Amino acid sequence: MNMEVIEKLNILSGAAKYDVSCSSSGVERKGGNNSVGNTSSSGICHSWSSDGRCISLLKILYSNDCIFDCAYCINRKSNDVKRASFTPAEITELTIGFYKRNYIEGLFLSSAIIKNPDHTMEMMLKVVKTLRTVHRFNGYIHLKAIPGADAKLLREAGFYADRMSVNIELPSEESLKKLAPQKNKKSILLPMKNLGDGALEICQDKKKFRNTPSFIPAGQSTQLIVGASPENDFTIMKLSDNLYKSYSLKRVYYSAFVKVNEDNRLPDKNEKMVREHRLYQADWLIRVYNFNVNELFENSKKFLDYDIDPKSFWALNNLNYFPIEINSADYDTLIRIPGIGIKSALRIIGARKYSVLDFENLKSFGVVLKRAKYFITCKGKYYGFIYKDAGDLKNMIKDKKNGLFIKLPYEKNLPEVYGNDNYL
Ligand code: SF4
Repeated sequence: MNMEVIEKLNILSGAAKYDVSCSSSGVERKGGNNSVGNTSSSGICHSWSSDGRCISLLKILYSNDCIFDCAYCINRKSNDVKRASFTPAEITELTIGFYKRNYIEGLFLSSAIIKNPDHTMEMMLKVVKTLRTVHRFNGYIHLKAIPGADAKLLREAGFYADRMSVNIELPSEESLKKLAPQKNKKSILLPMKNLGDGALEICQDKKKFRNTPSFIPAGQSTQLIVGASPENDFTIMKLSDNLYKSYSLKRVYYSAFVKVNEDNRLPDKNEKMVREHRLYQADWLIRVYNFNVNELFENSKKFLDYDIDPKSFWALNNLNYFPIEINSADYDTLIRIPGIGIKSALRIIGARKYSVLDFENLKSFGVVLKRAKYFITCKGKYYGFIYKDAGDLKNMIKDKKNGLFIKLPYEKNLPEVYGNDNYL
């Protein structure tokens, strides 16, 4: 690799770390005389495939030479940072070279907007098209869709990428106007709709024609910055819910605001990691556990309770629903119990076919008893402590580890890990 490309790689992999819609491991470890391999700091990150495997991706920007001036972004036009742009040939060579050496299993390619959205998208399309058609690259590709780019370019890119994402960035049009004045809601939602429609059409065609090519088989995702603008958690969750329903999004990624620019339009401080963490939990509940957004908030409060997870919050507000008998509750009821996830609910239902369950059995099914015991009975017996009211119970179950999330650097946030069954 020549020095110029190494320098570009350093600049453009560093600039890509601000995008959390592909999670980064944050691990840095050098190789030595007595060891084999290293964890490179130059752009290799980890993500999760749909079957739960951890895969390594080359995570880079095509360019950080942006013509836009978004207040929150390190790459904005008015910042004095080192600029660089790859050529399509350089990225394809890097990807194939790293892939052949077994460093990576795929590519995550994003970009600042160079010249104009169409030109940027054309260059990125050239990269993925060359990888797939010339090099026959069969690894995973996550490609950013550039807001405002021509619909035809986006559609074509969808046939080469596994996943595409358009970053919605801020939760309202008003905040976009204030912090990213060159973007607007339409230029973001239109590509999302275009990709969603494309995926639906291909799905229909596949039923009729056997050789229909794949179109973003891993779906589309987006990223939202939390805390750069004043929108509350209720507004954010309503927006996510709407995006899942209207655009068939696979994931919304939440990124706690990190102040990288001095700008009086921005808040003084970084957003707390615990907020991002609770939003991911709430998101998981609406996406997988069939909760609706209204259930996760009190009438007058529009922010999640950061002291406890949102499922426990809902349970404390609905104590009349509990305790639930483990030996007779159906699946939908079981997954509403704090400390019982999808897998443990299925294991409980499976095991009930053979015997009546004892309280002692539950731990082996993955049930988090320190939370669940206050909301269940087993063979009619209650195993929790006696509590006075919801406030008293909240003190017993509240998360004592909030500090853990506040201290985590944002690079170490691993959103897909929230699929862990014990998490809710
Ligand atoms: S368009 Fe993207 S890269 Fe450019 S300033 Fe805005 S957020 Fe940064």
